[in-house]
Amino acid sequence: MKNFILVTLTFILALACQQAEMEDKTEAFQLSSSVSAEKPPMLSMSDKTTVKNVIFLIGDGTGFAQITAGQYALVGPEGRLHLQTMPVTGTVKTSSSDNLITDSAAGATAYSCGIKTYNGAIGVNPEQVPCTTILELAEQEGLSTGLISTSSITHATPASYAAHVNDRGMQEDIAADFLDSGAEVFLGGGWKWFAPELRSDSLDLVTQFEESGYQVLRNATQLINANGERLLGLFAEDGMEREEGEPSSSQMVEKALELLTKDEDGFFLMLEGSQIDWAGHSNDIEYLKREMKDFDDAVKTVLDFAEQDGETLVVFTADHETGGLTLLDQTASDSLQVYWATTHHSGVPVPLMAYGPQAQEFMGWMDNTEVGIKLARLLQVGDLPILSE
Ligand SMILES: [Zn+2]
Repeated sequence: MKNFILVTLTFILALACQQAEMEDKTEAFQLSSSVSAEKPPMLSMSDKTTVKNVIFLIGDGTGFAQITAGQYALVGPEGRLHLQTMPVTGTVKTSSSDNLITDSAAGATAYSCGIKTYNGAIGVNPEQVPCTTILELAEQEGLSTGLISTSSITHATPASYAAHVNDRGMQEDIAADFLDSGAEVFLGGGWKWFAPELRSDSLDLVTQFEESGYQVLRNATQLINANGERLLGLFAEDGMEREEGEPSSSQMVEKALELLTKDEDGFFLMLEGSQIDWAGHSNDIEYLKREMKDFDDAVKTVLDFAEQDGETLVVFTADHETGGLTLLDQTASDSLQVYWATTHHSGVPVPLMAYGPQAQEFMGWMDNTEVGIKLARLLQVGDLPILSE
């Protein structure tokens, strides 16, 4: 009996500790008060079938609540984000091979390779065998490719397209792997993983990239004026700081499109809104609002291009939701209370939006791996998954 009480007490104590460790937070934000709400028209379904180019937009940590909060804060409940003009919607289950709650490495590898892998894995399967990515297939088929992020470009999401390492923390190895990927465009933060004075092995990757034909860019002015055939833009030491002189996501994607469209065979471009996830980790609605604005401006640039081009498939989704964000209570006519359930990722499914030829392929409920497999098939670069021997 005494033992039973002791065990019960220990159990209750452990439970209480666990409860205490769980963070949650309520905060409020101002709804957009713009009288004439910005409301870009809905885009139509494409009647074309050929997919020459794929632009894959990943809102890291971007769930339904993040998009809706962004909409309410930026354009108001009657307005519409550019993201919300895409005519096809789907829903994606985000689990990894070892956890129902994925991290960004396994989440991105599901999209890049079309496989489930363990949290932390970059372009390798659960047995740590490298998997071929859609970007690598596109390069093999003669298309041009690019990666854009607002984190370090060596961060988990972009890394999973052009590197193969067993752990996402190996960012020096990831930067070195990029050199062999053949991708024409890398734009984001992460100078410290390339510069000899900041790398632990003093390897001068900056010079190696230059010798391989990349124009190295450090600020927005250099980016705007860039005319190289290959671009390595490293606009912050690590993640972008949102400081003056750094380019916006829209400026990065504009330059990438200018370069990638020169390839008559087509292109694959992945753009990540990396810091939407970081706003979720820090339970910061104002941070989320700024990042949603930067991301949606880039989405506008992408959709304007795709509308004019007609042969570009645009797909937006998230790798997972971050923060367990929900919209709670309208505390006043112009403010809304939100609730963050966690400072980690959650396991709720995420939204997908698509526009352009074959967009209808992305209707319905999908596993994250199916999204990557479909993108490679529709771009006609090969059938994922492929493991290297
Ligand atoms: Zn995260």
